[in-house]
Amino acid sequence: CGIVGYIGRRDVAPLLLEGLQRLEYRGYDSAGIAVTSPKTAGLRSVKAKGRVRDLEARVPARFKGTTGIAHTRWATHGAPSDANAHPHLDAEGKVAVVHNGIIDNASDLRRKLEADGVEFLSETDTEVLVHLIARSQAPTLEEKVRETLRVIEGTYGVAVLHADFADRIVVARNGSPVVLGIGEKEMFVASDIAALVAHTRQIVTLDDGEMATLKADDFRTYTTEGTRTTSEPTTVEWEA
Ligand code: GLU
Repeated sequence: CGIVGYIGRRDVAPLLLEGLQRLEYRGYDSAGIAVTSPKTAGLRSVKAKGRVRDLEARVPARFKGTTGIAHTRWATHGAPSDANAHPHLDAEGKVAVVHNGIIDNASDLRRKLEADGVEFLSETDTEVLVHLIARSQAPTLEEKVRETLRVIEGTYGVAVLHADFADRIVVARNGSPVVLGIGEKEMFVASDIAALVAHTRQIVTLDDGEMATLKADDFRTYTTEGTRTTSEPTTVEWEA
């Protein structure tokens, strides 16, 4: 339903929670966040069925990080629950994914992964993305995501964190909106500009079939085949 992400120098958890609150008007049944930083090893995540304030109540005081992704979920596959809330992580806790949309061939992919020994922690269609990215042998995060998108069918706005590539967030769009917010030595991503305009008016809207890599002081967009695309930010007008 709603996606928010940030990479920069600021403490990320309060920023993500504030962004999620700005998306509450869309409706949702659960929420969650995952954070990392170039200095910390691994990812940390918290999820909760219910409101963003229920999630906030669960976030530990020391939940530091400068990079993170967050989600408000509107369940399509699997009941509203803590376990089915996004982000979804692999067993090692290296990959975190938030996803809007529906993966049509999820049950097929899940069966194959389970036959291969993968243990699923949720009932969502989204979780197949996590395991496919975690198991990919491709050398870069962008290629791991690209390889995964090639085998899935369906709609997505998706944001991915990987502990081994903690200097970036990789996002992709097919049928579910993804907008980038370009800041000063910080970058934002969201499914809706309402979550961004408090921080920046410089916006790049991804097209279907487009991906992006966000780093603190740089971003680039490209097709799911890897061809660079032009991405001049436009300035949005917005009445606060
Ligand atoms: N299909 C996913 C799920 O059920 C994402 C739903 C959404 O867009 O919030 O978890």
